[in-house]
Amino acid sequence: MTDFTMEKGADGVAVITWDLPGKSMNVLTMDGAQELSDLVDDALADEAVKGIVITSGKETMAGGMDLNVLAGMKTGGAEAVFEGVMTLHQLLRKIERAGMEPKTNKGGKPIAAAVPGTAMGIGLELPLACHRIFVADNPKAKLGLPEIQVGIFPGAGGTTRLVRKLGVMMAAPYLLQAKMSDPKAAQKAGIVDEVVADPVAAAKEWVLSEPKFVKPWDEKGYKLPGGAPYHPAGFQTFVGANAMINGETWGAFPAPKALLSAVYEGVQVPFDTALKIEARWFTSVIMNPSSSAMIRSLFLNKEALEKGANRPEAPDQRVKKLGVMGAGMMGAGIALVSAQAGIEVVLIDQKQEAADKGRAYTEAFLDKGIKRGKTTPEKKAEILGRITATTDYDTLKDADLIIEAVFEDVGVKAEVTKNVEAVIPADCIFASNTSTLPITALAKASARPEQFIGIHFFSPVEKMLLVEIIKGKETGDRAVAKALDYVRQIRKTPIVVNDARFFYANRCIIPYLNEGARMVTEGVAPAMVDNCARMLGMPVGPLQLIDETSIDLAVKIAKATKAAMGDAYPTDAKATDELMFWLHDEGRLGRKSNAGFYEYDEKGKRTGLWPGLEAKYPHQDPQPEIDEVQNRLMFAQVLEAVRALEEGVLEDIREGDVGAILGWGFAPWSGGPFSWLDIIGAEEAVKRCEHLTETYGERFATPKLLREMAEKGETFYGRFGPEAAKAA
Ligand code: NAD
Repeated sequence: MTDFTMEKGADGVAVITWDLPGKSMNVLTMDGAQELSDLVDDALADEAVKGIVITSGKETMAGGMDLNVLAGMKTGGAEAVFEGVMTLHQLLRKIERAGMEPKTNKGGKPIAAAVPGTAMGIGLELPLACHRIFVADNPKAKLGLPEIQVGIFPGAGGTTRLVRKLGVMMAAPYLLQAKMSDPKAAQKAGIVDEVVADPVAAAKEWVLSEPKFVKPWDEKGYKLPGGAPYHPAGFQTFVGANAMINGETWGAFPAPKALLSAVYEGVQVPFDTALKIEARWFTSVIMNPSSSAMIRSLFLNKEALEKGANRPEAPDQRVKKLGVMGAGMMGAGIALVSAQAGIEVVLIDQKQEAADKGRAYTEAFLDKGIKRGKTTPEKKAEILGRITATTDYDTLKDADLIIEAVFEDVGVKAEVTKNVEAVIPADCIFASNTSTLPITALAKASARPEQFIGIHFFSPVEKMLLVEIIKGKETGDRAVAKALDYVRQIRKTPIVVNDARFFYANRCIIPYLNEGARMVTEGVAPAMVDNCARMLGMPVGPLQLIDETSIDLAVKIAKATKAAMGDAYPTDAKATDELMFWLHDEGRLGRKSNAGFYEYDEKGKRTGLWPGLEAKYPHQDPQPEIDEVQNRLMFAQVLEAVRALEEGVLEDIREGDVGAILGWGFAPWSGGPFSWLDIIGAEEAVKRCEHLTETYGERFATPKLLREMAEKGETFYGRFGPEAAKAA
């Protein structure tokens, strides 16, 4: 297969076109890199060629490196990774030097990149190695280096070149925050040189214009924009960047630290040495199990789930008309994201005012978008025009999906189900957005339980990326396909689970919150609890999260669980319940009442922990070790995930991992609970469980499955991953 082809024109320009056969977007493979290298050699050696243009045969430049290549390199060990990366550096450096004399910078041929559209990762690193970058004037195109999002960093010279081109301060958002820019913004930032109607024509013209093309950093006297680390300005930048990274990641993510080290060390040495330094840090990140776990969960598996990895066979089930029952917080959000996806929505509540209020949520959201330049008045009119707010059930006559988001009450939900089913078409699917009520039980109110399903959103709907789809005992395949096709339409990530108390996400997060609260009752400093969670890579500590989701909700759930479980309700929940009920009685309901575990100012900003906690629960002296607190917080979550798998609530560990990261922010660096257990190993996990059980009680009891895996030396991905499933 040929990924790159070259055409030498009579005008003396060799145009190299990247066009991966059979793929909608280019990705770079090692074979592709070799082809490109050979073509560049050929063009540089050919006297008839005056200049070279590198472009793409697709609408976009490229999506990045083929991540499977990185995984392949890793199996050869650190040396193989380093060598693979250095091969890419040599190729890009060859393009950058383009045959110039090393000492005098004389000779050589200009090489321009003609970028037709989106260019990500290596798709931008390749143009960055060229002498001038021409980009098509396409506001939809996205240019950037998103590697940090999957636990690596731009490792094909992108880090070194962008920093030398823009300076540390200006490059930082692109490298550390994966900022993506449209062509005009990228030009303004200095990443690309020209935004034009026809980049290939412009690039050809430029290479023939006998331009000066040596890179600034290859000339004598080059100075890093913004100053090197030991200049007063540069010094400040590095101090700031270090603080920012640690403030955001709490030291839990390896890639940002490695990136910053590569930058800091790289800017103090000559360019070629900087590339070697970049390659070493990149190798260290690739060899860290975190990067493979993150790539697997946040890139490969997330995409597989979005594309319907677990979709049953059924004809296209895309939704045309959606009925949303209940225009409260959730219903309003569901109407918004559905209308944005082009779906016609009927939003129903008991009173017209309530329905209108739900629709007004979309209006306010879009108005904010217009102010921020993210949408236009025309687009707003179009989206808002898709939402009908009403109390009239007749409008549901031609709906093909209903999502019910009324009060969390079995009786209310049953009545709504019956009334809706009386008007909807026979093949319409009915979904409940309940967060706590079993789907099988709710389906009892339905005359067609095989068309009844759970579609569980997280709040706020427009921000949260995960949707949990719950199969009741009688839910049929078409309902599952419908839910999956709908989630795909609204561009969120689905997981499909079986019915059980709290389904999957809430089942795992509740023990995390409880463990945090329990530690407070034992005298662990609340700051220790939340900070240890942050140092694990959790986005929010358990106490802060309880404040966010509200203490009255925690109390409500505790009461409902107690009522439902009766004698089976765990006795060791007593201390936590006491704490929550006490806060509740004190009127400390969390952020919404500006008082909870934390204190807040009148604007709702957290100002610190509430001293009343220490007065009631004096701090232990000494405080426990960080590891001990972290293990309790981590095992509270991962053991629930393992039990969910053991019990068949989860059928696919990929969903367990992706759902954990997107649903409740489970330490993304780890790749999810199952990936984390694979990183520490089942044997080590059992050891920690035994210690925790002995010290803190049966809630940490080792699940049978985990013990068995430890005995057999198995990993979760080895035993339950997609490869294992295929082999079975
Ligand atoms: P909410 O109280 O904000 O909204 C409920 C709405 O339903 C109200 O506007 C109410 O007037 C309306 N309603 C009640 N009875 C009705 C009926 N018979 N017909 C039509 N409308 C009726 O509640 P919410 O937070 O939006 O939660 C709704 C559902 O979503 C609940 O089942 C809840 O468990 C679930 N859920 C909530 C969250 C969350 O974070 N709030 C997250 C996931 C799921």
